Amino acid sequence: MDMAGLYIHIPFCKQACFYCNFHFSTVLRLKSDLLKAILTELELRRNYLGGLPLSSVYLGGGTPSLLEAAELVALFKRIEALFPVQPNAEITLEANPDDLTKEKLYELRQYTPINRLSIGVQSFFDADLQWMNRVHNAQQALNCISNAQALGFSNLTIDLIYGLPESPDTHWEENLRLAFSLEVPHLSCYCLTIEEGTALAHFVRSGKSKPVDEERAARQFEYLMDEAERHGYEHYEISNFARPSCYARHNSSYWLGEPYLGVGPSAHSFDGVSRQWNIANNALYIKAIEENRIPAEREVLSLAQRYNEYVMTHLRTMWGCCSSHIAKHFGSVYLEYFEKQVQPFIALGQVHVHHDTYSLTRAGKLLADRIASALFWVE
Ligand code: SF4
Repeated sequence: MDMAGLYIHIPFCKQACFYCNFHFSTVLRLKSDLLKAILTELELRRNYLGGLPLSSVYLGGGTPSLLEAAELVALFKRIEALFPVQPNAEITLEANPDDLTKEKLYELRQYTPINRLSIGVQSFFDADLQWMNRVHNAQQALNCISNAQALGFSNLTIDLIYGLPESPDTHWEENLRLAFSLEVPHLSCYCLTIEEGTALAHFVRSGKSKPVDEERAARQFEYLMDEAERHGYEHYEISNFARPSCYARHNSSYWLGEPYLGVGPSAHSFDGVSRQWNIANNALYIKAIEENRIPAEREVLSLAQRYNEYVMTHLRTMWGCCSSHIAKHFGSVYLEYFEKQVQPFIALGQVHVHHDTYSLTRAGKLLADRIASALFWVE
């Protein structure tokens, strides 16, 4: 392992999307204290990655595009002072369309090293956006994509959500048609899930919203796979599609088990052996950092946990699970177990074997979670 990633969590949003269970606050009062704390945490954890150069920096959230250009400049100044950053590092800002005005895009391009934008479009239909309680409208999404491209941000990815229970297949088909016509090199497409504790879960329970229709979601996923392939995108991870060699480096480092440092409330870190996650509370996070404490819990992963994580992340990618990797890193007992458990899925045509790698077929991609859990080692 010779590269590492840095993730920074900006836990603020203008309004709460009904389906979201990330850590964020819509009260922006603590924003400057929190940014100060993030700068301090970077300092406190400068040695976490053991001096490995950063191949990616990812500002996620929340809504990091809420930050002013001057705040982003200060953040990158601190990162560059504390960590070696590879000259061609992928530097991504997660952004909502309403924040990406022409002026803001110009400032990002001019004053920050950001070279990739991950834009939360979700749908190009206002009715869908209102149903999700997104803060922006469809026209803002279209405008910000073309403005970003005009200013030279060629490395763009957009997020879309399918499986919305009240949105017809024709909306999804049109969303994809538009996405492909915009020539963005990368797409992340997520199936709507109803997470406990969200407004949407409450609406479904009270009958105000319909639950997710599994058949509709599967149908839309199949349409997505067909159309993405037809338009020259590789389905390289279950929710991610890229034009050749435009894979998201940052996310790939998670899936491929490289170390990363996560800074900010709720951010997770991994050093190759243990996982660590910061407290998901803005005020408590700030207080701890002011006392020079990292408010985190840490867990050293057992062999079985590392094997399960390997199976879960790799099986979701087009690179699949590799038997020689399992033998080398987890031993022959795990390899025998894996080979035994995977057989029924090979017989059903859901897993494909090529030399020593096992990957999901098209039929298997519809059942990715079920197949991965059947391969898990139960302690
Ligand atoms: S903008 Fe993103 S982080 Fe904020 S509530 Fe919506 S989905 Fe969640």
